[in-house]
Amino acid sequence: SPPAHTLTIQQAVDRAYTRYKAVSDGANASYIPYLAKADTKLYGIAVVTTNGKIFKAGDADYLFPVESIAKVFTLAHVLKAQGTDVIQKKIGVNATGLPFNSALAVELNNDKLTGSPPPGNPLVNAGAIATASLVEGHSPEAKWESVLSTASAFAGRQLALNKDVYTSEMADNQHNLAIAILLQSYNYLYADPTETIDLYTRECSYNVSAQDLAVMGATLASGGTNPVTHKKVTDATTSARVLAVMATAGLYNTSGEWLYNVGLPAKSGVGGGIVAVVPGKMAIAVYSSALDTAGNSVRGQLAIQSVAHDLKVSIFQIN
Ligand code: GLU
Repeated sequence: SPPAHTLTIQQAVDRAYTRYKAVSDGANASYIPYLAKADTKLYGIAVVTTNGKIFKAGDADYLFPVESIAKVFTLAHVLKAQGTDVIQKKIGVNATGLPFNSALAVELNNDKLTGSPPPGNPLVNAGAIATASLVEGHSPEAKWESVLSTASAFAGRQLALNKDVYTSEMADNQHNLAIAILLQSYNYLYADPTETIDLYTRECSYNVSAQDLAVMGATLASGGTNPVTHKKVTDATTSARVLAVMATAGLYNTSGEWLYNVGLPAKSGVGGGIVAVVPGKMAIAVYSSALDTAGNSVRGQLAIQSVAHDLKVSIFQIN
């Protein structure tokens, strides 16, 4: 194969696809029955540039539950509506260093051991639940419609709830409800806990493809204008703040290792999706359902790292 510096985007995508096609490490998320039965063979990569070009390999059009990656777009929604200070004071923007669904992180922050507000940051469950509780709307249905419509604008097409995953997750959601009630006890939940958990679980349950994620990420990469539809979804300030939180906390408790090795803001979800953003240039997204112990797609991380290295797009690297 040609030396890396001459690779086109399509060559980098194809190379990453081939390199890791045979990897079978990791395991599906087991705590959500719908996700436990995903086909671990499915594997797709998509890159979308800020000038709207799309490059893909494998199962890049396969639809799967967005899960935690939705947190990014609900954050963008609330941040744009309520401003940067609200997120910093009511949610927090520091990494927790603890697993994504940690109730201990809420306790540690509340005890002023960390100096952060109890929700932690908008990309862990507690912070995402608090963020969902800040969504404005006159009814639960209106709030959900506004969250889904923002995510759809990022994707450039109408996204839809996967009712099976929503039902599967709602049937077994005691831990997230407990986090919501814990936040409420500290006055860091801003709506009814049961309604908030319903909204939070819905947002985790809409379907996306790797290509959708790449378009959504490319919208952040271009300062808030969807490069495929050319519609303005959000503004450059919101995009920059969202990317900063992704860099800090996008890959659960291994966010530091990710930033060190790859040098890109990113977000993963336990559905097996992962998207990384190269500001001003592109987004790289992968679907592969088998996860590492932190909850990040194993092949997703490998493939994005490969594309990012081949294209030399770390935000910290002067080429
Ligand atoms: N709906 C999942 C949960 O709340 C999302 C987790 C994730 O993707 O990190 O546990």
